Amino acid sequence: MRYNLIFYFPNECRNSIAALFGGITYFCEEVVSNVRYAATKGEIIKNISTTDINLVAFSITTVNFYDVYNIFSYVKKEIRYNEKVIFIAGGPHADGDPNSIINAGFDFVFSGYSEESFALFLNKLINTGALPTNNIVISETSLLWRSKSFAKLTNNYFPPLEIQRGCRYRCNYCQSCKRLSRPIYKSKEAIDEYVDEFMRLGFKRFSIISPDAFDIRFSVDERSPENIMTMFEYLKSRGIDNIEYGQFPSEVRPGADTEVYFAILSRYTKNRKIVIGAQSLSDERLKKINRGHTVSEIEATMEAAYKYGYYSIVDIIFGFPDETVDERLWTLSKFKELCKRYPSRLHVHYFLPLAGTELYKTTPSSLDKETLKLLDGLEKDGRAKGWWREGKKMVDKIIRMRDTFSK
Ligand code: SF4
Repeated sequence: MRYNLIFYFPNECRNSIAALFGGITYFCEEVVSNVRYAATKGEIIKNISTTDINLVAFSITTVNFYDVYNIFSYVKKEIRYNEKVIFIAGGPHADGDPNSIINAGFDFVFSGYSEESFALFLNKLINTGALPTNNIVISETSLLWRSKSFAKLTNNYFPPLEIQRGCRYRCNYCQSCKRLSRPIYKSKEAIDEYVDEFMRLGFKRFSIISPDAFDIRFSVDERSPENIMTMFEYLKSRGIDNIEYGQFPSEVRPGADTEVYFAILSRYTKNRKIVIGAQSLSDERLKKINRGHTVSEIEATMEAAYKYGYYSIVDIIFGFPDETVDERLWTLSKFKELCKRYPSRLHVHYFLPLAGTELYKTTPSSLDKETLKLLDGLEKDGRAKGWWREGKKMVDKIIRMRDTFSK
């Protein structure tokens, strides 16, 4: 029997699917030619075969769960007479709340980093026809993750280098730190493999995934400016000079020691905008959400960025459950003060209760009129940008799914 694997491939899930495809190329090569990608529900249906067994796979985030569920339900209804279809899901939401996905009607959920376990599941299915006995498959990151790059061209997309997995901080709203108890880092040999593939495919713009741009490992096994300097030197020696760093997906975490890092960054990178993950300009809030840095460290980071010619994009989050109007007004007035000294823009995100975090079962607060008015004013003069309007809609979808399927 032939197996047809169809990945639903929206932009926000490209990196997760690329890692799974990397695993398939290492552990289950015979499936590679049977992989299909679909950007819409119509494309999923078009790719479903009536003769082969179809595995339709979705990567689910807490934010896209509502939309993926609607697509999945539509496809399931449309192909109801085809018994050869198995619906599979994974992704960050599956790590935090796998039961909700089973309750929503998916056949199997892979919870945890699944690049190896998913490929091994495919292997077993092909060789024996056996499906897992439990519909929730708990996976751990592959033991080979450090020594292999797991980055392959996937649906014409080549992912950034995931140099670090997990995070040593424990912010209580964040899913990234929940998947591993401590961070792990790619080995030099895996980075070599990544760069070989990057060069072979002819890509030019190089980017890296890391929760803290300045806390990577390359030549030294601790936080050190030497790591970013030796990494940039290495990339340069491999002919890579179009490097974007210190912005999504490798933002700068505020700290008192960032000046020396900016000094290095300014010598190697093309971008002159950096993203600082401040999250709030209130020390009380930073403490409550367990950020592990202070407002004065945010200020020191903006100052260091400015000294080396960087424009700061300052990420903050509004809408925490117990947030007050005064707290929001304080953060906005503090930013106005900082932005007079350091060229910068505020990037406003809405707090989202993500599955698996301490705050999953909480309800975000709504933004008050005064804050909205100030944000509109800042937006008009170019000092703020963000998703505070869309954020409310996202929250409504998350709560709807949580109330329906998370039991
Ligand atoms: S520093 Fe960033 S990645 Fe790490 S726990 Fe906090 S929000 Fe998550």
